[in-house]
Amino acid sequence: MDAYLLSIGDELLIGQTVNTNAAWLGERLSLMGLEVIEERTLADRNDRIRTALHDACAAADLVVITGGLGPTHDDLTKIAVADFLGVEMQRDDVLWGRLQTYYTERNRPVPERAAQIADMPAGFEKLANPIGTAPGLRFQGPASDNALLIVLPGVPAEMKAIFDASVQPLLADRTDLRSTAHRTLQTTGIGESDLQAEIGDAETLLPERVSLAYLPSTSGVRLRLTARADDPDTATQLLDAAEARIRERADAHIFATGNVSLAEALGRRLTDAQLTVSTAESATGGLVGDRLTNVPGSSSYYAGGVIAYANPVKINQLQVDAEVLSSHGAVSEPVARQMADGVRSLLGTDIGIATTGIAGPGGGSDAKPVGTVWIGYADAHGTHATHVRFVNDRHMNKALFATAALDMIRR
Ligand code: ATP
Ligand code: MG
Repeated sequence: MDAYLLSIGDELLIGQTVNTNAAWLGERLSLMGLEVIEERTLADRNDRIRTALHDACAAADLVVITGGLGPTHDDLTKIAVADFLGVEMQRDDVLWGRLQTYYTERNRPVPERAAQIADMPAGFEKLANPIGTAPGLRFQGPASDNALLIVLPGVPAEMKAIFDASVQPLLADRTDLRSTAHRTLQTTGIGESDLQAEIGDAETLLPERVSLAYLPSTSGVRLRLTARADDPDTATQLLDAAEARIRERADAHIFATGNVSLAEALGRRLTDAQLTVSTAESATGGLVGDRLTNVPGSSSYYAGGVIAYANPVKINQLQVDAEVLSSHGAVSEPVARQMADGVRSLLGTDIGIATTGIAGPGGGSDAKPVGTVWIGYADAHGTHATHVRFVNDRHMNKALFATAALDMIRR
């Protein structure tokens, strides 16, 4: 079953509001097995909405519209939908009664604008709004090319509440939905093109009807497998087979299946192994600690850390040798190792991790270009360090350094 999303609102087009509704709906519908084939963001304009509805209904079986359902002058979704279908607006008795009660209790007549909340395009069914006044709407018929039309408010909390209460159950009954299934394999410590080289040609590697997408981020590259089958069991079998083939080639880089962060996956490992960790952060300025503490319950394995940004802190708090620091420079293997060892002793943990690098834009040299980071590791067996070079801006580099540090604990 194909789905089409329409997001309505000038605020989305001028960059005032980020279109989180489309992202949320895209994820939810995909997880249910629908294929979201297109999303369009539209101005608050009757003609644009009608044109888009025409295209969407012709292209998809399900059309979900969000935004512009409220009572203000810029909320014209309902009217545009009625115009598109060629139906009149009708006052809904239940909604009208509710409005009258609300305003009578406040000793006021129902304002003209607010009255619009009670108007609905003829032929629509209401979808109850558990947390707001404006209900969602539902229509299906020849006028919509038999596409199922769902209209939801723009306010994200209301949109989600109506979706969960009314739209999800409606779709769950459909047997033609679960033909598409997704699975995400999370990798880290390897770039997109190197990973692609290791996995090889997906078309020959994977079963037919399974496709593979590479989704890079600062935490690593996610591998998204999509299987198309006639029933859910077959789709799962296809995904199992595809995952096995990919693991034969790239298992060492995969830290989790599904929606699990690197820090979460790491937390599980540290908990299982009953190990504790501490951090000495220069270039990352606390990002590694931030990522680790984003996981609930991380205090059972993460002790804390030192942000040793300036050299005196490295020397005084972490016992880094001043001689080594001046002869090798702060961004160097021996300093990374000594920082890791220093914080491990200071906080009494099993493992110590350190970052020292050049995030940029300044501070690079031919020998140590911007984007270079040394990651130090210390445990009861000794210390070691590794270096990586990234080529991004300061914020991206810092995020990538932190990922490299987390990856070092994982290994
Ligand atoms: P209301 O009754 O509040 O007017 P509405 O259905 O008319 O509801 P809009 O006026 O379109 O909704 O949007 C209300 C608010 O919801 C916007 O100011 C915006 O912050 C948020 N919003 C709207 N559309 C989106 C979207 N696609 N993604 C994220 N937020 C959105
Ligand atoms: Mg509005």
